[in-house]
Amino acid sequence: MQQKKDEPMNDEIELSIVIPLFNEEESVEPLYAQLKEALEPLEQSYEIIIVDDGSTDRSFELLRGLQAQDKRLKVIRFRRNFGQTAAFAAGFEYARGQVVVTMDADLQNDPADIPRLLEKLEEGYDVVSGWRMERWKSAWLTRRLPSVVANRLISETTGVHLHDYGCSLKAYRSEVVKNINLYGELHRFIPAMASWMGVSVAEIPVHYRSRQFGRSKYGSLKRTIKVMLDLLTVRFLLSYSTRPIHIFGSLGLAMSGLGGILGLYLSVVKLALGQDIGSRPLLLLAILLMVMGVQMITMGLLGELVVRTYHESQGKRIYVVREILE
Ligand code: UDP
Ligand code: MG
Repeated sequence: MQQKKDEPMNDEIELSIVIPLFNEEESVEPLYAQLKEALEPLEQSYEIIIVDDGSTDRSFELLRGLQAQDKRLKVIRFRRNFGQTAAFAAGFEYARGQVVVTMDADLQNDPADIPRLLEKLEEGYDVVSGWRMERWKSAWLTRRLPSVVANRLISETTGVHLHDYGCSLKAYRSEVVKNINLYGELHRFIPAMASWMGVSVAEIPVHYRSRQFGRSKYGSLKRTIKVMLDLLTVRFLLSYSTRPIHIFGSLGLAMSGLGGILGLYLSVVKLALGQDIGSRPLLLLAILLMVMGVQMITMGLLGELVVRTYHESQGKRIYVVREILE
């Protein structure tokens, strides 16, 4: 979540398509064909960046073959499987387009939707996200309900209101993706992370197909847990990352305050009333609260140091400028 040094963009082009790919050998060729079909009529300068995230099947051989005949195709091969987020990050790093479109390699997104995303972006948005409406037709209780709940939760916590956070098919202005740094599995929250720099986000319905080849790389229970934890991270980064003392400090003050009051009460009981307080659970609670409160405050102060190191050691700014008139 910071600004990168402005690198000179030699031979900038209009459109970059960024696609993470991991063991999708059956999909490679149809994907390429469908992309070509969707992109050629646009008459825009474009590049397709496929990031091979350490595939162990024939994916890379096939990509090599395609790349040999098409200089608009760029293939980045990772040394091992680093995950979808890392693949997106690499794609963003290498993208030269003014607009960056992301999608999955498994044919679940339809490249034919790309022109409509671009049109919407032209209306002045910074991010246009796909909304897989067709998934709505699937079983209500097992798929639709959990997905509605999860998306509502994410949209309320992050403040970026989308119906479908899980859709990879999205279009961004390049400055949006060049200005965020992704870790872990935060690719699901790119629009939320980008909201930090102030972006206008739109959502349009896109086609969605069930997986034809291979299988999903994520288990659903594991994914739910990860998404919940990531949501916590994103929320923290968005609201408190430059002032950790405010959240930890408030918690700490509240805890030690409450602990102090309880302690005071117990002292009165002991000293004024002469009762024995050694066996009272309240004493334990008072001590616990006070110790934890002090720890929280210390954590907040350490957080403040970390934030300063983070921004200052790398010359990162805490703001992003849209334009300057002079
Ligand atoms: N993917 C990747 N690295 C990984 C896992 C997945 O590059 O470690 C790619 C995968 O090839 C696909 C996209 O990310 O193009 C989405 O993965 P998948 O279809 O398994 O996720 P789902 O559609 O089930 O959310
Ligand atoms: Mg998929």
